Amino acid sequence: MKHNLPELTYNYKDLEPYIDEKTMEIHHSKHHQGYIKKYVNALEGLDELLNKDVENVLKNLDSVPEEKLESVINNGGGYYNHRLFWTILTPKKTKMSNQLKEAINRDFGSIETFKAMFSNKAKTQFGSGWAWLVVAKDKRLKVVSTPNQLTPFEFGEPILALDVWEHAYYLKYQNRRPDYVENFWNIVNWEQVSKYYQELN
Ligand code: MN
Repeated sequence: MKHNLPELTYNYKDLEPYIDEKTMEIHHSKHHQGYIKKYVNALEGLDELLNKDVENVLKNLDSVPEEKLESVINNGGGYYNHRLFWTILTPKKTKMSNQLKEAINRDFGSIETFKAMFSNKAKTQFGSGWAWLVVAKDKRLKVVSTPNQLTPFEFGEPILALDVWEHAYYLKYQNRRPDYVENFWNIVNWEQVSKYYQELN
């Protein structure tokens, strides 16, 4: 399997004014690329693992040699998390499916409550990390956060992600993470999030 930096379906400047061009460029071409490179380096010579998709490796950490574990968790996590993150962003106005809307209403009471809970998770994650909307094993939707580059697989399958590392917002927002989080809602690709939800049902 080739571990290439995934191409974006939009240009770096397209998410302005919510995420600035420079941040997108560095985040994608430097940070994300860096995680991928370090992941591949960590698994050098371990072709069986390198031939698998990173998601598969992260879900089967028992198969990773102990001395490679930390690097695979950190860099493989960064590789996987950003790959998902780019796909749920868009400059286009999109709508969530009725199926997802109903599930959010069922599990959170309302769309507004869900957004408030997710935003709160993102704002209060201490230090670097991610906020997630996941579909748990019992099929219910849950809002969770993870530190650093940990994936949310222990809680469920992610369908929405928000990177709250400072590198994701500091150039434009400096210390104002809450403003970045609120602006995120303007560029969520609800069509894609709905698709991910549908694939799990
Ligand atoms: Mn990031």
